[in-house]
Amino acid sequence: MKHRITVAHGDGIGPEIMEATLKILEAANAPLEYDTIEIGEKVYLKGHTSGIEPAAWDSLRTNKVYLKAPITTPQGGGYKSLNVTTRKTLGLFSNVRPVRAYAPYVRTHHPDMNLVIVRENEEDCYAGIEHQQTPEVVQTLKLISKPGTEKIVRYAFEYAKANGRKKVTCMTKDNIMKHSDGLFHKIFDEIAAEYPEIENDHKIIDIGSALLADSPEKFDVVVTLNLYGDIISDIVAQIAGSVGMMGSSNIGEQCAMFEAIHGSAPDIAGKNIANPSGLLNGAIMMLNHLGLGTVASNIENAWLKTLEDGIHTGEIYKEGLSKEKVGTQEFAQAVIDRLGQKPSTFPVANYPDGEPLKLNTLTKRAERPEKKYVGVDVFVDFDGDANTIGDGLRAVKHDVLKLKLITNRGVKVYPDGMPETFCTDHWRCRFTNPDGKEIGHADIISLLEVLNSAGWDFIKTEQLCLFNGERGYSLAQGE
Ligand code: NAD
Repeated sequence: MKHRITVAHGDGIGPEIMEATLKILEAANAPLEYDTIEIGEKVYLKGHTSGIEPAAWDSLRTNKVYLKAPITTPQGGGYKSLNVTTRKTLGLFSNVRPVRAYAPYVRTHHPDMNLVIVRENEEDCYAGIEHQQTPEVVQTLKLISKPGTEKIVRYAFEYAKANGRKKVTCMTKDNIMKHSDGLFHKIFDEIAAEYPEIENDHKIIDIGSALLADSPEKFDVVVTLNLYGDIISDIVAQIAGSVGMMGSSNIGEQCAMFEAIHGSAPDIAGKNIANPSGLLNGAIMMLNHLGLGTVASNIENAWLKTLEDGIHTGEIYKEGLSKEKVGTQEFAQAVIDRLGQKPSTFPVANYPDGEPLKLNTLTKRAERPEKKYVGVDVFVDFDGDANTIGDGLRAVKHDVLKLKLITNRGVKVYPDGMPETFCTDHWRCRFTNPDGKEIGHADIISLLEVLNSAGWDFIKTEQLCLFNGERGYSLAQGE
């Protein structure tokens, strides 16, 4: 039986490395049939601003397995990232990036590293919800959900269990982002307790990244939020030998996408020098996902033998270590020539055939807690100083809500601000009910009416809520 999958050749080096990968799959008799879709720059230029034609979604939803070459995403403006859209639209919540050293054949300072980054793939700053709120200030929303976090953390532990991994390390910045990263860490601790056989720990992301770069061999599975996972996986891939060598799987409840971890590398596109190994490793993960363990093992063993034989693409070629510098297609041919052979130093791949293990990541939606409104933060665009806005808002008369304090970029500037604090035109003005009682939507609306009549340019509000009596908002400094 042949498996029908969707394939996209992408931008930059995408078409070259996809050609090389498909050649190897064909030579290994992988039982696959392909639907080819166009994505990326060509599609943007045809006027489809999402970078994908509507019909291509049908192919992805029907085949459910997608092998994708990298695509170019405009920086600092232009179209939204299609990679992000695809991951979210298809519910591909888990981005699994195994990274290991291939020493002594590929040069690295960390010959013993062998770890897996499990990156949350749908949330965090990648919601791409951004607004310019005042002439001086822009905002990105960072969204972290309970079910999203539960799914990825459970996936990391299930992955560790299924793959004989011993430890899962969580990385967050919950000393600063106490609510968003704090939620991730809290759920990690809860779920870790369900897996007593697997060691667990937590590192703050800054020292965690430093330790990963310094002694990656001390890590096993790392689970983290979307943005941190994006960054640390490039770091560990590069220090393992090359960002061009590692593959990644994007796994959802129904669909899965396989790719290289690197991008479209426009600096080397069209030169036949890119390493196709990243995409090939993504394809090997895909074969295992399809239950085609024998073919996956055959290709991985031939690839490892090629590395051992010193046949290397330019970015890993080292005089004295490598034997022959080859281009993208020649590297693919070298792998094809070694199909059926096994590596002599690296562990021989021997994956099972049959239905792959489906990891249990089902989450129970918790009962909705009791929610009470106790105040509102009104964000105001104001070109002036802290005492002028503070005294002005104090003078605003409202029966229930009174100004408690004002912060600028998170630092309290009224009352009792310090003259040294630099202020922008973006002011967070906290109104609460001084007698501590619950308030309602009507109170917030009437406050906004009063502010509007007094000529204040408010740009957004954030309600201050208690959930089952617990504070659901951060305190301002000194509050
Ligand atoms: P990149 O990963 O494309 O390249 C970084 C560096 O690594 C470059 O010097 C490049 O030449 C080198 N490199 C990457 N892959 C290689 C390979 N297979 N063989 C040899 N060398 C390789 O990152 P970038 O330059 O920051 O991004 C380029 C574009 O790719 C951007 O538009 C970015 O948005 C996009 N991108 C796409 C994906 C994806 O499709 N999944 C992922 C990351 C970046």
